[in-house]
Amino acid sequence: YHAKEVRGRACTYADRRDVNSIERLRLLGDLGRAVERGELFVRYQPQVDPRTGVVAGVEALVRWHHPELGAVGPDRFIPLAEQSGLVAGVTAVVLDRALADAARWRAEGHRPTVSVNLSARLLTDHDLPSMVAEGLRRHRVEASALVLEVTETGIVSDAERAGSVVRRLRALGCGVAVDDYGTGQCSLTYLTDLEVDELKIDRSFVTGMTGDRARAVIVRSTIQMARELGLRVVAEGVADAATLQVLATLGCHLAQGEHVGDPMSADAVTDLLRSRGGRRAAAVPGQSAPA
Ligand code: C2E
Ligand code: MG
Ligand code: MG
Ligand code: MG
Repeated sequence: YHAKEVRGRACTYADRRDVNSIERLRLLGDLGRAVERGELFVRYQPQVDPRTGVVAGVEALVRWHHPELGAVGPDRFIPLAEQSGLVAGVTAVVLDRALADAARWRAEGHRPTVSVNLSARLLTDHDLPSMVAEGLRRHRVEASALVLEVTETGIVSDAERAGSVVRRLRALGCGVAVDDYGTGQCSLTYLTDLEVDELKIDRSFVTGMTGDRARAVIVRSTIQMARELGLRVVAEGVADAATLQVLATLGCHLAQGEHVGDPMSADAVTDLLRSRGGRRAAAVPGQSAPA
């Protein structure tokens, strides 16, 4: 009985894999067109100061509106874009949109940082820093407004080339963040050798940390380490008010997650910045973060 069940499962898995590879091929074929036809768009997830609820940053997250398949998430097409060399084009679209929106928010007097994800593949691309510099110039946005998120995997896969790109981005005045911190399999060498500006604690540690001793210890000690190293520390995956409260007590600089706000349109960010983007919001005592 057991063997039969296992065989059945293996069969189902193989079938599913075929379906997946057909879908992958289709998406891959469509992706080049998607970049040109403007099927990609950007959503922003707000990042708040957990003590005040002030929106101090947003993370740009790419979306693909496929004409037949509907919404396709980045986890499904970013890996394909990386394999096919289209990721530079995808990033150019996201960066351009993010800087245009950053300029718009600045024209209204709001100065949130805007974070853009860089795939590991792109981190060794020597053209990247000039693409970033050109975008900043074109949209007249100060370099310190832009934070580029890289993963530990991206840093270690080709440490020397990644290091040179990271140093050039920082020389422009941009911030560099380590994304999904704690999930990579590498040492902490890059914190001393590479110099980054921000750590983003992966949501697998943050979500549910109030009911889990190990997670709570990891988050608390990571915040302490980041602060002592002079880094901005962001907790992602903040899913309830209790977690936000604990993060405020621990001195976490920014919180991001579904309790703070789901990914939203640039216009929705504008509304949010108008209501809680500035000093006025910060001055209201005992204010809680937006649900
Ligand atoms: P990430 O950079 O770690 O982004 C955070 C992801 O976690 C986002 O998913 C966000 O919607 C989700 N998230 C945030 N808070 C919560 C929460 O409280 N609960 C849950 N369940 N999820 C939460 P998304 O937008 O699907 O992005 C997935 C990944 O795709 C990103 O992970 C990033 O690695 C990649 N990605 C997104 N946009 C881009 C892009 O423009 N370029 C590149 N290269 N990668 C991107
Ligand atoms: Mg990210
Ligand atoms: Mg992340
Ligand atoms: Mg992630």
